Amino acid sequence: MMATTHAFVGLALASAYAAAGGEYATAAAAGALAGGVFPDLDLLAEHRKTLHFPEYYAVLAVLAVVVAATATLPVTVGVAGFLVSAAVHSASDVFGGGTEARPWLAQDERGVFLHTQGRWAAPRRYVRYDGAPEDLAVAVTFAVPGWVVFDGWIREAVLAGVAVSVGYVLVRKRLPALEERYLQ
Ligand SMILES: [Zn+2]
Repeated sequence: MMATTHAFVGLALASAYAAAGGEYATAAAAGALAGGVFPDLDLLAEHRKTLHFPEYYAVLAVLAVVVAATATLPVTVGVAGFLVSAAVHSASDVFGGGTEARPWLAQDERGVFLHTQGRWAAPRRYVRYDGAPEDLAVAVTFAVPGWVVFDGWIREAVLAGVAVSVGYVLVRKRLPALEERYLQ
């Protein structure tokens, strides 16, 4: 799934936290947005492995939530938002396609790397590939709570994220050819 989809899923969780009266909701949202995008920075390394840790982020996220509940400060809430979002991102990548350049061909069985087991989890392809129309539908659906609950820069980030997502979906299938032509 797109990095923006993951960011919106994290933001939706932060929105639930805010709606429940959680303190420092803006810090939670900022952390969640960053944590939703962060794992995909490994596009520059080994994608869905180098910065994707489905198991370790989950353990750290539980610890961070306990710390934030015990010592509620902007920084602890922000870190908890980051780790929860990164954990959900890493785990939910298994519902998308494989890591190949053209994931709509469904030829790659590498979904996300399970570091504790030293193997790849196979992609389930509920969302066939990142940038698929259904990916956009998921992204926009999860963007709604953040749009409703927050204002200011977070709302602007939601709008920008939706715009980027639409653009990405429109050009997604042309990207591999461009990459092969200009970057290799
Ligand atoms: Zn990812």
